[in-house]
Amino acid sequence: GLDLSGRKALVTGGAQGLGEGMAKALAAAGAKVVVADLQKDAGAAVADALDSEYGAGNGFVAHDVTDEGSWENAVVAATDVLGGLDILVNNAGIEITSLLTEVTADQIRKMLDVNILGTALGIKYGLRTMRPDGLAGQGGAIINISSVAATIAFPGIAIYSATKSAVDRLTRVAAMESGKLGYGVRVNCIYPGLVPTAMGAGLANDVAELGLFGSPEEAVGAVIGLTPAGRLGEVTDMADAVVFLASNEARFITGIGLPVDGGMGM
Ligand code: NAD
Repeated sequence: GLDLSGRKALVTGGAQGLGEGMAKALAAAGAKVVVADLQKDAGAAVADALDSEYGAGNGFVAHDVTDEGSWENAVVAATDVLGGLDILVNNAGIEITSLLTEVTADQIRKMLDVNILGTALGIKYGLRTMRPDGLAGQGGAIINISSVAATIAFPGIAIYSATKSAVDRLTRVAAMESGKLGYGVRVNCIYPGLVPTAMGAGLANDVAELGLFGSPEEAVGAVIGLTPAGRLGEVTDMADAVVFLASNEARFITGIGLPVDGGMGM
């Protein structure tokens, strides 16, 4: 398997769902992980579970990706706990389902804030920390979490889809600047397909409630119908892709968006 021994990772939104699975998969591959999340109890519990399953040295930091001061604190805390930093997973995100004729400015702003501003600040602090003159200074890998929603049109998630397209573009330019300026940081993103986490299950319920599908099961059936692999995604499908992009086996891969969607977006 892929070996991340000695590697030091920060995962945003790591208290539950895909982020929790990514933190576990990174630790299982040998990395030490700091979980960052708004949710303190759940986030600290994930870090404790990593310590008991994979050995001490993991940690938790309370973090709001939309707040620049919180980022400054998080990269210092992570570098301190881990003795460095060379993997950053910008996973925190939110989805508020709405028809374009009904969506409010407040809902739009919330999604732009967490998904675009939060990821852009993550890239900023990740690059500044890992580049040669940074706090950690050894180069590394940033993995951003976009979505299959950036590659197809699905009703009810227009703003979310737009924010995930923005994550894709942020990734490409970040990879370009990192290379051109000699930061030694690879920057990639993945496009997860639908996974029945709190967010994924909520989305299926919401699009049914909006009348776009007859029921949540019908919405899920429509997604599966568009997916050659014939099933929804699983947390481990996404976590394994993140481990790969973080690993030395992906050393010549930067600036890509990797679909991890069973073919839904092809
Ligand atoms: P989730 O809602 O289960 O978990 C998201 C986590 O992010 C939570 O722990 C939450 O507390 C945290 N978070 C939210 N706002 C934050 C903020 N401002 N600062 C710090 N942490 C914050 O969602 P998930 O399904 O695990 O999704 C994780 C990522 O994967 C998101 O970026 C999402 O858009 C993306 N994604 C999910 C799916 C899916 O089907 N589940 C598909 C494609 C992409």
